[in-house]
Amino acid sequence: MAEEVVSLPPPKLLPWHAAAVEQLRSAWIGGRLSHALLMHGADGIGKGCLAAWLAAAVLCDTRGPERLGPCGECASCKLIEAQTHPDLIWVRPEEDKQQLSIDQVRAMCERLTKTSYRQGYKVAVLEPAHQMTIAAANSLLKTLEEPAPASLLILLTSQPSALLPTVRSRCLKLSVVGPSLEQARAWVEAELGQPVSPDVLEFAGRAPLKALEHARGSFAKLHEDMHQSLSALLSGKADVTQVAPSWADEQLPARLMWLDLWLQSLARGALTGNAELVTFPSRPVHLPRSAGTLNISGIYQLVDRARALKAQLARTALQRELAVTSWLYALLDVLAPQATPSARSPR
Ligand SMILES: [Zn+2]
Repeated sequence: MAEEVVSLPPPKLLPWHAAAVEQLRSAWIGGRLSHALLMHGADGIGKGCLAAWLAAAVLCDTRGPERLGPCGECASCKLIEAQTHPDLIWVRPEEDKQQLSIDQVRAMCERLTKTSYRQGYKVAVLEPAHQMTIAAANSLLKTLEEPAPASLLILLTSQPSALLPTVRSRCLKLSVVGPSLEQARAWVEAELGQPVSPDVLEFAGRAPLKALEHARGSFAKLHEDMHQSLSALLSGKADVTQVAPSWADEQLPARLMWLDLWLQSLARGALTGNAELVTFPSRPVHLPRSAGTLNISGIYQLVDRARALKAQLARTALQRELAVTSWLYALLDVLAPQATPSARSPR
């Protein structure tokens, strides 16, 4: 297998991992830790950190039948820290590929059958496991049926139902539960050392690791830009021909995600006629009409079109500006049919 340099998550437990760790420890102490674990849970809650922690724990030189947890000090833990442990195999799709190939999985299975370099365990992690090709998944079955001694295979996934049932049924399932919204917010704020806007958490689907990434990245700028240009468009201060070119940049997928959340929030408000239920973004966008009079099915159609556009962007090169222009005219038709008639007819 090509020895790709992949950056591995740190072997770090997050506060909401406590229940999963408790299960792992009790299985280990009872001698019941399965040779194949299917760790499943939402994206952005640190499943990779938990898998790295478990790998470090079973590889740690100080492990014992009564003790599971990396010491952080031994030679094995130092190798984990340096991301050069020879008995840890972490497999992800190759660069520019979506899927885990049969060659990658075969090479991993073969390495699991070899003697460990450090006279201990060998650990392999497949991430994300639901992105195995069918051939790759089938090539895994023999390893699942006849595991090599002292080997541990960890499958990470946010979509366990997308795995072959034959694979799923041969693994011990471990559900990793994410934090509550409050716990997520507290954790992100502690990591950042400053308060975090609720909009960041919403944008991240309430997943704390994603929220932290957004908060450290360019979310604030994107957020401000979306808020301003949308308000200008809906109040008639800007027209589609001004907004479309600025949206058709490399941030377009993030913009569509933002619009998706906003429109869903708007539909919630419109359904109940209660503008206070429009929670994203937390600072309201100017609307030409009150939430109670909006065309709800039209809003959901806009959501569908935004999602289709996002999927299309991932697959094909697209005339971005043209696609955005047409979506924006649809937006005005739904949200501002009377208020901005001039904006709807391109000059
Ligand atoms: Zn150690």
